[in-house]
Amino acid sequence: MSKIFVGDYSLEQVGKTVTVQGWVANIRDHGKLAFIELRDRAGILQVFVDESSADFDMVHELKRESIIEVTGLLVERDAKFVNHHLKSGQVELKAEKIKLISQSKDLPFELDAYSHTGDEIRQKYRYLDLRREKMTSNIMLRHKVTTAIREYLNSESFVDIETPYLTKSTPEGARDFLVPSRLQKNQFYALPQSPQMLKQLLMGAGFDRYYQIVRCFRDEDLRGDRQPEFTQVDLEMSFVKQEDIQNLVESMLKEVVKKSKGIEIEDKFPEISYDEAMTRFGSDKPDTRFGLELVDLTEIEKDSKILFITKALKEKNGSIQAINLPQGSGKFSNKELGNIKQAMMEFGITSFATAPVEDGIISGGMKSTFKESNAQVLQALDAKDGDLIFFVTGRKDKVQQALGALRLRLAKKLDLIDPTKLNFLWVTDWPLLEYNEEEGRYQAMHHPFTQATVGSADELKASPETVKSYAYDIVLNGYEIGGGSLRIHERDMQEAMFQLLGMDASDYERDFGFFLEALEYGFPPHGGLALGLDRLVMLLAGEENIREVMAFPKNGVGRDLMLESPSSVDEYQLSDLNIALK
Ligand code: ASP
Repeated sequence: MSKIFVGDYSLEQVGKTVTVQGWVANIRDHGKLAFIELRDRAGILQVFVDESSADFDMVHELKRESIIEVTGLLVERDAKFVNHHLKSGQVELKAEKIKLISQSKDLPFELDAYSHTGDEIRQKYRYLDLRREKMTSNIMLRHKVTTAIREYLNSESFVDIETPYLTKSTPEGARDFLVPSRLQKNQFYALPQSPQMLKQLLMGAGFDRYYQIVRCFRDEDLRGDRQPEFTQVDLEMSFVKQEDIQNLVESMLKEVVKKSKGIEIEDKFPEISYDEAMTRFGSDKPDTRFGLELVDLTEIEKDSKILFITKALKEKNGSIQAINLPQGSGKFSNKELGNIKQAMMEFGITSFATAPVEDGIISGGMKSTFKESNAQVLQALDAKDGDLIFFVTGRKDKVQQALGALRLRLAKKLDLIDPTKLNFLWVTDWPLLEYNEEEGRYQAMHHPFTQATVGSADELKASPETVKSYAYDIVLNGYEIGGGSLRIHERDMQEAMFQLLGMDASDYERDFGFFLEALEYGFPPHGGLALGLDRLVMLLAGEENIREVMAFPKNGVGRDLMLESPSSVDEYQLSDLNIALK
């Protein structure tokens, strides 16, 4: 039977005598009568107590966050006392008996929503922090999201299958967390970065339509949308086309948004290619809630006589591009522009400049730069008087990245983002490979199991730099919330891919021999995707850090401040594992 929580009481229960337990969120003690705000995970119920109750005296001693049990009559509040901020605001509990169940000490910080408390203390006392309304509602939202996902996938014939955490390194590209084995001395398990190969093997095993809401581990440097352990909604399907997977995930996300937020998204999610995303937004995960698109001026400026432009365009893939900020003129101090320039230069571009538009021309220090091409540049940028143009030159990919970052910075600074929007976007047609300049070799853009759009291993090897893949990312408000691909299911293609990644037969036989062999026993064509659950819930909750939607997160350097972990271990534990510390 489902429980009526304290915060759930409403007119329906009026006239009943009930016994409830909860935390004392607040007391307003008026001497001869008192109001207690009693709280549990569902919210607050007002308790009224006066001298008619035998337990009235103890109320003066009650400390906030103590737990009490109250027995009393649930009554309707007078119309003028209805509290519209509370779910239970039309009723109150008239206490007859009050029993102290657990007294609270003075709290290390205030729980009321308005007082600001540092992250460190919140994490150290996470069980207190989670009592706050915002945190409780974030965790409840997460539960609604996972419930909606499970319901949707179950109804679409998916099977929930667990895969091991003590496993072997998977090539997702990040550093692995290693776990030393005691029984197999000097050998290590790796915690999975994702169950990628295992879910593919489940397709080989015949479990068409698998899913799992699964923890993944990547030993990376942390930031707001990254934690060392995070949760993926992982799924895989056999005998499907790319559009089947995209359609399914799209319907699932619409269902999730409807059930968790009550928002109906009717339109199909827009889809753009990776190239278009980079060209228009300078990002492979564009935030489409605002404009400020990149404009490539390379063609217009190809005959420019201005030194910094000719120099930039002479280089391989040299380019000049710009963003126009409507009515941006005069909105930045020189110091701010200096800071922006500094941040831009870190992307490895060759020059950065700004110019206002005045009296129908590009003005300021750039007046003579665009003397010849003024009209064309203004037209390309759709720029008018009062606008501010940001110009960047350098190698095309670096210019795009720099302007992609600038676009976000400008939108935040000028408040151009509507926070109520949920802009989902598919980014498709990804290159299969990217060249890693430092290592002098290709690496997989998605992962090594992604299917190329070419049909044979020979074609693949003939033009690795231009080959596209059947990969797709799902983006929400500028965050990659998921990605997937159709997979290779033939041994020769998988071997060709490993070879392109610079492995020779002995390398891939050693690391992936079992997987290559599996492809030879009747392996279905298949594909899938994984969603980053934490990021999705973070965005639905309107938060900026995934910590805010995780019950027990780690801090910026991967520490659990409550458990004080990681920590040193006893000598005998190390010796069991045959480990000596340096
Ligand atoms: N395993 C992939 C990842 O974690 C997702 C996928 O291809 O399904 O990025």
